[in-house]
Amino acid sequence: MTIQVMPVEGLPLIHEGDDIPALVCDRIGFQDGDILVLASTIHSKAKGYTRKLAEIAPSERAKRIAARDREDPRFVQSVLDEAKDVLLEHPFILSELPFGHIGVRSGVDRSNIEDGMVILLPPDPMGGAREIRDRIRSIAGKDVGVIITDTCGRAFRRGQTGNAVGWAGFPAIRDYRNDTDLFGHVLLITEEAVVDEIAGFANFVMGESHQGIPAAVFRGCGRWTGHDDLYFRAAEDIVRKAIGAYLAGKKE
Ligand code: GDP
Ligand code: MN
Ligand code: MN
Repeated sequence: MTIQVMPVEGLPLIHEGDDIPALVCDRIGFQDGDILVLASTIHSKAKGYTRKLAEIAPSERAKRIAARDREDPRFVQSVLDEAKDVLLEHPFILSELPFGHIGVRSGVDRSNIEDGMVILLPPDPMGGAREIRDRIRSIAGKDVGVIITDTCGRAFRRGQTGNAVGWAGFPAIRDYRNDTDLFGHVLLITEEAVVDEIAGFANFVMGESHQGIPAAVFRGCGRWTGHDDLYFRAAEDIVRKAIGAYLAGKKE
């Protein structure tokens, strides 16, 4: 099995209203089964999920966090406005977004956009991925899976990697439970986060700075079965509980 990974080259700077699927279809001859991976940054710019810092009035809470974290209070306010729950305020904000993702600074970015602007994560990245998939089918007549990514930090290890925040056309997780290993042992807990694995390599292809490659196409990944239950619920997330216990201990 050969897997091909193709950067989508020559895309312009994206602005609100741009038709990203059409721009990609101009540059890639899609085949059935291909996977288009898009940086959330350009999806959000095309959809207008951006804000001007000058139009944001920071709350007292935002000012307090900003002083402690050495951030712009207006930026902190934009981060708080995206958060459904704030898990940590210092040394950086760690927050849960309404669609389930937990990320540093709510995934709000100041890079790859004009000065004084921020890029938010899309509020409904699953819906966004479905819409892009449908649009590619109507333009190119091909069955193409879609992953929307963001570059994220992680626990336990240094270095950021690409994570999937939205996907369409396949399940997020390949479920190996009840499969048998080489020695006939039944696997009891293995669930492979395929969308994050693909997002991680796509992130490597895209780069983080001025490469201008906000999309990549994967060909030959095959099919897998599983489920979309990617995000832990709060009650089963032991890292989240540990952060809560740590903060409760500090207040005593
Ligand atoms: P994020 O990981 O979604 O936050 O996006 P990044 O800011 O890390 O950008 C990922 C890649 O997309 C990098 O190669 C950027 O240079 C590129 N990129 C970001 N915005 C644009 C854009 O509007 N047009 C093009 N052509 N590339 C962009
Ligand atoms: Mn980002
Ligand atoms: Mn990135």
